[in-house]
Amino acid sequence: METSSPFFTPTENEEALIAVAREFASEVLGPAEHSVDTESQPAKAYTSPEYKYAMAESYRLGLHKMTLPESCGGLGIRPTVHREILEILAGEAPGLAATLVVTPLAALLIALFGLEKRHKFYKDYLEAFVEDKNGTHSSCWAVTEPQLGSDLMNTESPAPPAFQTKARWNRAQGNYVIDGTKSAFVSNAWRADSILLMLRVDGPDSSGPGAFLVPADLPGTVKGMPIDKLGLRALNQAEIAFNDVEVPPEFLLIPPSEERFSFTGRLIVTAGNTSVGTLAVAVASSAYRQALAYAQQRLQGGKPIIQHQLIRMKFFEAQRDLEAARLMLQKSAWLIERGTPDLALAFSARHLACTVGLDICANMVQVLGGYGICKEYGVEKAYRDIKLLQIMDGTLERVALTAAASLYDGPAVVAVPQHR
Ligand SMILES: Cc1cc2nc3c(=O)[nH]c(=O)nc-3n(C[C@H](O)[C@H](O)[C@H](O)COP(=O)(O)OP(=O)(O)OC[C@H]3O[C@@H](n4cnc5c(N)ncnc54)[C@H](O)[C@@H]3O)c2cc1C
Repeated sequence: METSSPFFTPTENEEALIAVAREFASEVLGPAEHSVDTESQPAKAYTSPEYKYAMAESYRLGLHKMTLPESCGGLGIRPTVHREILEILAGEAPGLAATLVVTPLAALLIALFGLEKRHKFYKDYLEAFVEDKNGTHSSCWAVTEPQLGSDLMNTESPAPPAFQTKARWNRAQGNYVIDGTKSAFVSNAWRADSILLMLRVDGPDSSGPGAFLVPADLPGTVKGMPIDKLGLRALNQAEIAFNDVEVPPEFLLIPPSEERFSFTGRLIVTAGNTSVGTLAVAVASSAYRQALAYAQQRLQGGKPIIQHQLIRMKFFEAQRDLEAARLMLQKSAWLIERGTPDLALAFSARHLACTVGLDICANMVQVLGGYGICKEYGVEKAYRDIKLLQIMDGTLERVALTAAASLYDGPAVVAVPQHR
């Protein structure tokens, strides 16, 4: 399917990069994703040679640092091109592609906020991350809690999020002490060696929501086992508990109640929803392609089933909806690239992609009849994977309510500071 549009105009070099990503996705990521998906024990899957090989090869190619600025050793890939590459990777391996989306978060924030000047850990981390060719360094975003899910994005309530995870200032030691537990859904938590942690901060002068960017091996930090789940099984997810974890004040990324808290949250969620929508388009497109090939050769009623109008109509509707969703996602990425990210548009695009995506995957299973539910055929996996995309980075209900509120309360536009 032709994917260029007014919002996606790659250069020749970018086209070449996209071609490399396409080959890598089908030769390396796809087989690894299949192997991890079919392993019944998640911990075994994420330590398997197939998983480790796929991650190491991804890092060798630079896929872990695609979005990092070149000035920090990253590839500096534009958001519109990154979106395209993500769709290609996720067409073969959505769980591994999702892992690669969250992987650079810590490095990105170090680069965005110039943190490497603040603490040696940040400088060492950024250098080690960009040089990493084994898949050793990666990060996660720990925000949701066992009792705090959708309410994190509750735009109808003026109250700040009611975090149970708290950092209290310890005047005697001159450091913070963190206590609390983040939900079992934190993407890449099991693998991450650096955590963006959003919580309540009770500082020496003020209290409120804030954020730390901390090494994952601080004493008292305990990770749960990776969860066993329906789909996106190649994306590891786990709980993180903080038991009296002592943290130096230099690791406080966003002090209590600063405007930067909602700015950072909105920026992550705008880019995150554009990525989640892109994963949905990729998964549904992949199911579409597989079902189309099947429908062209499966004979019933004396002819290939694609020639039956009721079957053909499913492909027409799928193609129509995928084209519309992709175009909206391309526009969202284009706005991020221009420095005017639009949260409401990202939510709308992701909502459309995940809504039509689930319908498309269900229809593609239907096209294969009984064979559609068998693991040998990829549509079964697509149907399982896409459901998670309706919950990740805010449930569809929550993002719709927030986007709807912006129609009345003004556009949810996030101002982005320039890279150094
Ligand atoms: C694949 C995946 C990846 C994730 N990655 C991360 C991550 O990296 N970091 C992280 O911190 N968390 C992560 N999460 C957690 C995710 O953000 C939460 O699961 C999500 O925000 C929903 O919270 P909840 O599960 O507590 O559901 P709840 O908030 O309890 O919602 C339950 C149901 O109630 C509905 N609901 C809630 N409030 C309202 C309302 N006001 N009006 C109407 N309906 C409502 C919801 O839509 C949902 O259907 C991930 C989740 C998944 C599935």
